[in-house]
Amino acid sequence: MKKRELLYEGKAKKVYAMSDPDYCMVEYKDDATAFNGLKKGTIRGKGVVNNKMSNFMFKLLADKGIETHFVEEVSDRETIVKKVSIVPLEVIIRNKAAGSLAKKLGLEEGTELKCPILEFSYKNDELGDPMVNDSQILAVGIATREEIDTISEIAYNVNKYMVEFFASVGVELIDFKLEFGKFHDKIILADEISPDTCRFWDIKTHEKLDKDRFRRDMGGVEEAYAEMMRRIGLQ
Ligand code: UDP
Repeated sequence: MKKRELLYEGKAKKVYAMSDPDYCMVEYKDDATAFNGLKKGTIRGKGVVNNKMSNFMFKLLADKGIETHFVEEVSDRETIVKKVSIVPLEVIIRNKAAGSLAKKLGLEEGTELKCPILEFSYKNDELGDPMVNDSQILAVGIATREEIDTISEIAYNVNKYMVEFFASVGVELIDFKLEFGKFHDKIILADEISPDTCRFWDIKTHEKLDKDRFRRDMGGVEEAYAEMMRRIGLQ
C-alpha cells in the first residue's frame, strides 16, 4: 500500500490517500489551536505524543473488544487507519466537572458528578461546534436513533476502560472527546485519544497533564505531554 495525495489538512493532522481506497494515512503535526482556532501555537513533539498515545489507546481498546480505525503505525508521526466517513458529532464524556461544563453550571473544576455525562456537539467550525441534544440530531438528520445509541454505548464502554487504565498509571481521566466514523456502514471509533482531546490530572497532586496548559498559558506544556508518555510507558 502506497501513500498518495493529501486529502485534507486540519488543525492538528494531515490526511493522505492510500493506493487502497479503504485506507488513509494520518500525519500528526505539532500545531496547536484552542478556542475554535482563535489561539494558535506549537507544542514541540506533540505530533509524536498524540500519534503514539492514540495508537496505544486504540490497541488497548481493541483488546477489550472495541473496534477502531487503527491499522498500523508507520513512523513517529504517521499511522495508517481505515478510511471512514466521520459522523459529524464530537462525543464528550465527563467524569468530573471541568472546562465548559464547570463554567456553564457554576461548578468548581474537579467537582464530583453523580454519574458520567455524555454530550454531543455538532462538528462545524463555522458554528463553533454547538452542543446538540438527541432530538436535534434526529430532527436535522445528523445521525439516526440507532447510530446515537451505538455511539453512546461504545463511548460509555471506552470511558470505563480508559478510567481504569489511567488510574493504574496515577492519572485521573476528568473528561475527553471521541469521534466516530462509518466504515462500510459500521460505526467504529476514529480520530485520536491524546492530551489534546482528554483532560488528565495527576491523581494525587491534581496537576494538569493535558492541553489545558496550552489553553490557559500555564507553561510546562511539552513537559506535561512527555510526562503522559512516561506514565503509559511509551518513553
Ligand atoms: N474537546 C476536544 N475538542 C473540542 C472540544 C473539546 O478535544 O473541540 C475535549 C477537551 O479536551 C476536554 C473535553 O473535550 O477534554 C471537554 O471539553 P469542554 O467542553 O470542557 O471544552 P473546552 O473547555 O475544552 O472548551
